[in-house]
Amino acid sequence: MSESVPDRSVWERVATILRRSVPRQQFETWFRGMALVALTPDRAELTVPNNFLREWILRKYFGVLRRALREVSEGDPEVEIRVGEEDAPPVEGAVAEEPAPRAPSPRPAAPVAYGESDVILNAQYTFDNFIPGPSNNFPYAAALAVADSPGKSYNPLFLHGSVGLGKTHLLQGICHRLMERRPDMRILYLSCETFTNHFVTAVANGELDGFRFRYRHVDVLLIDDIHFLASRERTQEEFFHTFNTLYNANKQIILSSDSNPAEIPTIEERLVSRFKWGVVAKIDQPVYETRVAIIARKARVHGATFPDEVVKFLAENIRSNIRELEGAVNKVAGMAHIYQRAIDIDLAREALRDLLPPPSSRVSVDGIVRTVADHFGVPVKDLMGKRRSKSIAHPRQICMFLARRLTSHSLEEIGGYFGGRDHTTVMYAYDKIRREAEDSTDLADTLEKLKLKVTS
Ligand code: ADP
Ligand code: MG
Repeated sequence: MSESVPDRSVWERVATILRRSVPRQQFETWFRGMALVALTPDRAELTVPNNFLREWILRKYFGVLRRALREVSEGDPEVEIRVGEEDAPPVEGAVAEEPAPRAPSPRPAAPVAYGESDVILNAQYTFDNFIPGPSNNFPYAAALAVADSPGKSYNPLFLHGSVGLGKTHLLQGICHRLMERRPDMRILYLSCETFTNHFVTAVANGELDGFRFRYRHVDVLLIDDIHFLASRERTQEEFFHTFNTLYNANKQIILSSDSNPAEIPTIEERLVSRFKWGVVAKIDQPVYETRVAIIARKARVHGATFPDEVVKFLAENIRSNIRELEGAVNKVAGMAHIYQRAIDIDLAREALRDLLPPPSSRVSVDGIVRTVADHFGVPVKDLMGKRRSKSIAHPRQICMFLARRLTSHSLEEIGGYFGGRDHTTVMYAYDKIRREAEDSTDLADTLEKLKLKVTS
């Protein structure tokens, strides 16, 4: 503590010796942010801006640094490198005279992630909080496998699916698990946008070496939403080399996208083919049972248990986006809290009012029956009658399904329309078609088409 901070010229002498042994670019990249805090014949204390630099210097440059310090101190100092806030003295005379040419900071940018470090993750996005189901079993299992043995199982792992289906959650789940179990690993998790921004900034500031080092010396690289790797040629070129370097070193690469590699319009063929080298796993829309499980789980986060009826209502009405499903649960719980109301179906309907298209008053059961009859080539009167043959029963069930979904008629009213059937028959038909549509994209498409015709 008693040593005074050495004169800047002392560091200049150390730096001069270092420059003799280290190529200029490397010196710039690794030593520019270094500061000499203390130097005596038996002790040298230095600081660097971040752990990343510290580790790298210790690993690669410790020998030359130590020799330089010995020479200047005329002793054999014990060298300590800390991560510190002290401003580095400029190592080039020119920098001091000129108005800082490279605003904002002359230091190499701090890495987003390093070892046990400072990845910014959502604490909720863990594997424990992820609910697997038929729509995401494979991506989920692949993510687990990669987290358990990075670089060894699936490389690259390419997850895709439409918005709000859990891609970011799985990527961060991998990060959480790795940070917990493999604190030795260097993990870099970032959005594609951040990657692009870093690259563009590095080019503008002439700091490509630092950029490359940062991206090519990680054990696990995760880039979220890679479809934003737009047609900026240089960025793709750079990413291509990053990919190759890491891949060849058996480092794990994990990417997410809103569509499968071949369907990202802006991505070059050579990258598309590389994305397919490992495993491409698609996340589909969650099936009904998964939606129910997710609703129950998210409700519990609010300390609430939703009645079955409410859970069913939400699961039936929000089908294609888990983020929206979550939003609906939050809204129901929030409204119950604010208005001090019980969580019931009325509250749920109110909560979802903005999210759902209003049941169109123009849609009539009549219109539905005519459209369905036309589509399946069966007579209208058969659909409304008693015949039970499959060729009639199935379209009839579809009618009931659509009537329930698209009109505001009660189950009884709908049952009455179809030859005086019981409301349980309508409920059964509705459930059956709903379930079948979960398993059959053909049926789901047919329903969509019919819905469009009926409502337009
Ligand atoms: P994406 O990145 O695909 O757009 P996210 O990962 O951001 O989607 O997921 C949207 C929301 O849905 C997040 O809050 C996430 O926690 C939640 N979510 C998605 N899939 C699941 C799942 N299988 N289990 C639990 N929560 C999920
Ligand atoms: Mg995302």
